[in-house]
Amino acid sequence: MKMSKMFIQTLREFPSDAEVISHKMLGRAGFIKKLAPGIYTYQPLMWKVLKKIENIVREEMDNAGAQELLMPFVQPKELWEESGRWEVYGKELMRLKDRHDRDMCLGPTHEEIITSVARDGLKSYKQLPVNLYQIQSKFRDEIRPRYGLLRGREFIMKDAYSFDIDEAGLDKEYENMAKAYKRIFERCGLDTKMVQSDSGAIGGSVSHEFMVITDTDAGENDVFYCNDCDYSANSNHAISNLPDAVVDGKEYFNETKIIDTPNTHSIEELSKFLNIPSTLILKTLVYIVDKKPVLALIRADKAVEETKLMNAVGGIDIRIASAAEIAELMAEKGFDAVPGFIGPNSMKGVKIIADETVKDMKNFVVGINQTDKHLIGANLEDLGAKFDYTDIRLVERGELCPQCGKPLQVTKGIEVGNIFKLGTKYSKPMNAVYTDINGKTHPYVMGCYGIGISRTAAAAVEAHYDEHGIKWPIAIAPYHVVIVPVNIKDELQMKVANEMYDALKSAGIEVVLDDRDERAGVKFKDADLIGFPYRVTVGKTINEGFVEFKVRETDEQEKYTPEQATEKLIKNIKAVL
Ligand code: ATP
Ligand code: MG
Repeated sequence: MKMSKMFIQTLREFPSDAEVISHKMLGRAGFIKKLAPGIYTYQPLMWKVLKKIENIVREEMDNAGAQELLMPFVQPKELWEESGRWEVYGKELMRLKDRHDRDMCLGPTHEEIITSVARDGLKSYKQLPVNLYQIQSKFRDEIRPRYGLLRGREFIMKDAYSFDIDEAGLDKEYENMAKAYKRIFERCGLDTKMVQSDSGAIGGSVSHEFMVITDTDAGENDVFYCNDCDYSANSNHAISNLPDAVVDGKEYFNETKIIDTPNTHSIEELSKFLNIPSTLILKTLVYIVDKKPVLALIRADKAVEETKLMNAVGGIDIRIASAAEIAELMAEKGFDAVPGFIGPNSMKGVKIIADETVKDMKNFVVGINQTDKHLIGANLEDLGAKFDYTDIRLVERGELCPQCGKPLQVTKGIEVGNIFKLGTKYSKPMNAVYTDINGKTHPYVMGCYGIGISRTAAAAVEAHYDEHGIKWPIAIAPYHVVIVPVNIKDELQMKVANEMYDALKSAGIEVVLDDRDERAGVKFKDADLIGFPYRVTVGKTINEGFVEFKVRETDEQEKYTPEQATEKLIKNIKAVL
């Protein structure tokens, strides 16, 4: 491709709304153009990158035995009613009506559609197992679209769905997909960690996420992992062992009584006032889960993990209660306590979830719904409330690995893929069944497997860049090489540049010739910004028979003859493809 003919718009500045590296770089290098929040045009350079990622995904999915299909993007309400998700899927589901006033939605994911495809086509055990996938734009009306392609509203996803006769079949396919995912991300030049993750409110299910580990703000997930064993998990699913702590207050309190604790609104104020460690305080937090108040009890030196709490309640939406909502709850129960003094006593009819840290607490301090007062020397039986113990605790750095007991590490991660054991979550309600050898019917046992194609491209930029621009891994770079003649009016420079261009092209290398009538500095800047893995400069040294060869990833520069440079490029690039 000749640069003078390419549709490229590099900018002097980063887009004004860009907060993270990949959004800044892809915007400034002209890979993406925003149309509306979270909705982008993939310009020609971007589309080349996306097609390369798609092809790697296709090859590995096909190799793993999956078959590609393409399902409709616009979906009718009826199927979503069959699965029960029309009511519960929130505002992320973009709903619309057709001209006949029928309810439709834009596909955010395709479990319902694929299950209906399967139930019409997979009738007998003899046809199973099957794994079907597609690569397609999805639409999710994200509450906070941001970070460019990392969290768009319209984005490209590969979604695969497997159908097996039993759990053992699913387990095998799950392993198969995990291996395929590992290869896919490796081939894309990405280092990923496969981590345990939350699987929503469906008990017993298993899911793993593939995380690109990053130290930038773009990592929206906290990943806990152990350096001494293979444990790793998203914070929404991570568990840990706690170091020993003082959880029996017998040395501080020799009776159980209500005392004045004026102005102790925070745990810090209360523990200072009583001169006790915060491990002797039972903290009560008020959340709103699916519009209803829920009390979460936890040892006060620890924090609640909201996804865990939401799952413990079996909800799909959670947030901390506002001051007004807490006041309303207090009034309803006949109290007037302000936050800081809330407790689980006399909270009949309100769901209470206690973290496992509460179980061992003795002679502790707890709010009793009276402002400026606490109960000291309290024990669980004094609370007059019933609750189950569940792990709802947020793991913190330095706590101990649940597998080997060594301190856990934490880092940020970008979720690029997710694999999930669905079981019969969709096949059962949608009556999607196969007939076994005895003529009996059973729902399929399903798995689903997603990869964010556009997010993977952005994650690759987060992992490969410097202050000058992108450093594309060769396998997904829009082009492999840029040839820069320093002076396009110099006959020898242009002759050598053109010869190298032709030789590389005929060897199957994707090469750009920067034949623009621009200063060399401008061309070099654009080359670095766009992120070509290799740059060949044909300048004055060609009079001595040499071109300059630069590797973008390492900044390594060498002088070669044009023939040596061509040979080296072909060898290096073919080794990766
Ligand atoms: P997240 O937790 O980041 O919102 P998710 O877990 O809801 O994502 P999945 O339903 O697991 O997403 O979708 C499969 C894959 O699609 C994700 O692993 C991710 O790579 C990609 N993806 C999901 N939402 C978006 C988005 N808004 N923009 C770009 N890619 C996305
Ligand atoms: Mg996910």
